[in-house]
Amino acid sequence: MKIMPLIQMPKAPNIIAPPMVEEQLTDSVRATLIARIKQLMLQQNAVLVAHYYTSADIQDLAEETGGCVSDSLEMARFGHAHAARTLIVAGVKFMGETAKILNPEKRVLMPDLQANCSLDLACPADEFSAFCDQHPERVVVVYANTSAAVKARADWVVTSGTAVKIVEHLHKQGKKILWAPDKYLGDYVQKTTGADMLLWQGACVVHEAFKAEALQKMKLAHPDAAVLVHPESPAAVIALADVVGSTTQLIHAAQTLPNQTFIVATDNGIFHKMQAVASGKIFLEAPTAGTGATCISCAHCPWMAMNGLQKLAQVLESGDNEIHITEPVRSRAVRSIQRMLDFAAEQQIAPRMRGAA
Ligand code: SF4
Repeated sequence: MKIMPLIQMPKAPNIIAPPMVEEQLTDSVRATLIARIKQLMLQQNAVLVAHYYTSADIQDLAEETGGCVSDSLEMARFGHAHAARTLIVAGVKFMGETAKILNPEKRVLMPDLQANCSLDLACPADEFSAFCDQHPERVVVVYANTSAAVKARADWVVTSGTAVKIVEHLHKQGKKILWAPDKYLGDYVQKTTGADMLLWQGACVVHEAFKAEALQKMKLAHPDAAVLVHPESPAAVIALADVVGSTTQLIHAAQTLPNQTFIVATDNGIFHKMQAVASGKIFLEAPTAGTGATCISCAHCPWMAMNGLQKLAQVLESGDNEIHITEPVRSRAVRSIQRMLDFAAEQQIAPRMRGAA
């Protein structure tokens, strides 16, 4: 019997999420801020590109001003195609960096540069690069939730909407994969495609907190509900899903499935769009075990919550919080992102929800 050598997996750093601080505004302050932001955006030829996990205020403002609310794949596409000279990215750091990588000539601002992601933080570029060096025979595929430096080390960047198809494509070519940073999404992609994948051991603090046993009980209490699960969740939670997909795919399912009730295992910021595209339907948060248990985020990302109208107005006033990436890193990172965008365009993956709100 042939003995396979043991592969030493690097240990991802333990990530401590910041405390949740959500913006609280009176109606009159909110209205004043929105009017000021709109004026500044017009003056500065700026467009707002926001993620589904940001607040309802930010999402509404993006749509009202001709911007975009979407997943990270569509955010990248939209910012790239839009003629605005300034992109304001309301989301987390890797999204701002991706916008800058694709648009070096544009000014990219973010409401808060501390808004990060546990997956990005769990994959330091130096350690990751050393791990890649140990496995030169493998194609390096990284999730979009990584730093510019990690993308620069990768052969491919993928999003949750493109991961399965891209890995499938590589697997058919006989390639072995080195995957980072999300162990749960990597496990899901590995099981779905059958590809040979080495998985980095990062996790999303929001999705990791969903609990299968409690979800099973919730399903029994709501037998007509469809369960929608983002694949950054643990395998036992994914196993209970009716639909597994990216945020855009889950919103599409909420809109098109005949069910009136949905149990949703992803950040609860997505409910704003789900309610807009499927008004009258009922959306319930999948259980994270609640008070006193292990839930770190309770279905909302503390870094996404750092985006708010006050900070948005402030960066437009001051020009602070601009994203900068060195050209050697950018020019390497853009190849792996562009590869994904070209593949997604060819395969027509994850079309944007139109007329949704
Ligand atoms: S929800 Fe998870 S994956 Fe998304 S930004 Fe927050 S920590 Fe990262």
